[in-house]
This record gives sequence, structure tokens and C-alpha cells, in this order.
Amino acid sequence: MERVWNFSAGPAVLPEEVLKIAAEQMLNYENSGMGVMEMSHRSKVYDKIIKDAEADLRKLMNIPNNYKVLFLQGGGHLQFSMVPLNLMKNKVADYIVTGEWAKKAAKEAAKYLKVNKIASSDDKNFTYIPDLSNLKVSPDADYVFICQNNTIYGTRFTELPDTSGKDLVSDMSSNILSEPFDVTKFALIFAGAQKNIGPAGTTIVIIREDLLTDDLPEYCPTMLSYKIHADKDSLYNTPPTYGIYVCGLVFKHLLANGGVEQMYKKNLEKANLLYDFLDNSKLFKGTVAKKDRSLMNVTFVTDSEEINDRFVKEATAAGLVNLKGHRSVGGMRASIYNAMPVEGVKALVKFMGDFERKVLNES
Ligand SMILES: *Cc1c(COP(=O)(O)O)cnc(C)c1O
Repeated sequence: MERVWNFSAGPAVLPEEVLKIAAEQMLNYENSGMGVMEMSHRSKVYDKIIKDAEADLRKLMNIPNNYKVLFLQGGGHLQFSMVPLNLMKNKVADYIVTGEWAKKAAKEAAKYLKVNKIASSDDKNFTYIPDLSNLKVSPDADYVFICQNNTIYGTRFTELPDTSGKDLVSDMSSNILSEPFDVTKFALIFAGAQKNIGPAGTTIVIIREDLLTDDLPEYCPTMLSYKIHADKDSLYNTPPTYGIYVCGLVFKHLLANGGVEQMYKKNLEKANLLYDFLDNSKLFKGTVAKKDRSLMNVTFVTDSEEINDRFVKEATAAGLVNLKGHRSVGGMRASIYNAMPVEGVKALVKFMGDFERKVLNES
């Protein structure tokens, strides 16, 4: 079977070149006589793999020296707990609730501290990003939390909130490396690898050094301390060694292909192709406010559930897979992360056009 165009929201498509390198190195990594999966995380060979991965990510995102880069496990979900556990001082935090993930993050944080929801788009099923110009940031907030790209709903922050000087924490699980971000604007960034980077199982945390502290609640598990992981360069315990290796291959691939600037250009091109089609379609329409549209996750519907289902089914048969929307939104969602080639989006747009003509002819 040929490879398909995979529009999965995550785990998601990886660059084919990277998969080929991983395949070539599967049995014998650089003459070590073994594959990366079989290697000690304390070996010299592996040390270079993890150090290179960090150095390359630092280059790609222009991460300043006063930030630590951590390779952890537990996905976005564990960060929903680690963030409050490690950043609490006054035990108050502000959350901007723009979707399922931010909602879950707020709920988890509320186990440990007082959560203020200072803005939300829940009144319109999270189809927009709320007005950020007049935020009432709590004077005693330990941090302000955002989910920058809402994977399920297909919205993104096109500007950052004014946090009145409070530390900004961003869940970048589905938009890290998709466009240039100024890391210095954030206190902490986290992202599960499985959307826009690599295999599931690795979580990347970028944290400003002054936030690392031993002064954690007594009940906080040692494994959930950022400082422990930072002090040990992500080798406190066995890290997700193979996942970090593949992430590293993706970073090298991005650097060799123009870095984040070039990805951003391609991502704009891909997103515009799809959104322009949707805006001119007589059958399909986008589901979110135009100004807040995600570059990574494009959500759309037709007026009929039946036609939605038929579309997903026929697209799948044509080799365009994983287009069904998240169960909380319905309709369709095309995730077009960095690794989705422009050709994949062109194939989707062509299929949608053909499908539209066919359906409209029938009625
Ligand atoms: C997928 C996703 C999560 C959840 O990630 P897990 O790694 O499954 O815990 C959290 N936040 C965002 C923005 C996501 O897209």
C-alpha cells in the first residue's frame, strides 16, 4: 500500500525523509553496532543525540541561554499538573479558556491553587479567541495560562495577551515550530511532540531558569519537579530515548530546510489554499472566526451530517485520511502540520472541489 495523505490531529504525519533516515539507522546507529532503542541513555553515543537535539531546537527557536530545554514524558496532560505544582507561590493563577485543552488545564490546576478564568470563548463553542485588550489579570496571579493553538476547534492566538507583567505559560502542543515565536515573551512553553514534532511519548518544556525551584509542595512527586529534570539535563531517569532521537532528526530536517521562517511561509501557503477554497465553496464552510483561524488545524462543515459522513468516507477511499472532526465539534478537520507537504493540501482541495460539484449536481 502506498502512503496516504494523513490529516491526523496527532499523532500526526512525519517528514518522509526523517522516517527514511530512522529506518536506515534502525539496526546500527552510526557504527555503534546497535539501534538507538537499544542504547543506554548514559552512553556517549546517546549523549550526543540528546545534546544535539537540544542545541538544534535552541537554534530553531532562538532560545536564550536563561531558558532550560527539557525532554520529559507524560504529554500535555502532565504539564497541566506540573505547571501549577512548580509555579505556585501565591496559589492563584489566571487561565484564558479557549477550548477543551485550556479547560482541562484549568480544571487540573484548580486541584492545587485558585484558578481565575479571566477570559473564555465558551459562549460560542470556542469558535473564536476572546478580546485580549482589556484583560483583568489578577494582581496576585502566579502566571497566566493560554493554549495558543486550539487543536480541536481550529483557532489560534494571533497576538499574545497583555499579562500586566505576569508570567505567561503557553501550551504549544499543536503549534510549536509552526511560526516564529519570541521565546522571551514566555515564562514557560510546553508541547507534546506528537503533533508538530515527532513521535508520541516525548514532551518538550522550555522554561525560564528563575522559575526552577526546590521549594515545592511536600506532596509533589520528585518526577514532577522541573528543577530535578533541569539539574540532570533531562537524564534524571530514563528519558524517552527513541522519541528524542526522532525529534532530533526532525530538528535537523527543519534546519536544513530553512528553519521556522520557511515553515511559516509554507504553513501560510497551505492554510490559505484551504481557507480560500472554503470561503468560495457553496458546500463547505469554515467553523471559526476568520481572524482567529489556525494555520495547523482547519475545521469545516457542510450543512448536513449525512454529507459530512459521506465526505469523510469518500476522502478516505481516495487516500485522504483522518479528516473526521473531533467528537466535540463534529464535521471535518484537516490537520496540516509542518510535515504535511503543500501537495497534500492541493490534493485535498482538489478532492473537495470535485466532491462539491458532484454533490451539487445531484440536488
Ligand atoms: C493534544 C493536545 C494536548 C494533550 O496532549 P497529550 O500529549 O495527549 O496529553 C494538550 N494540548 C493541546 C493543545 C493539544 O493539542
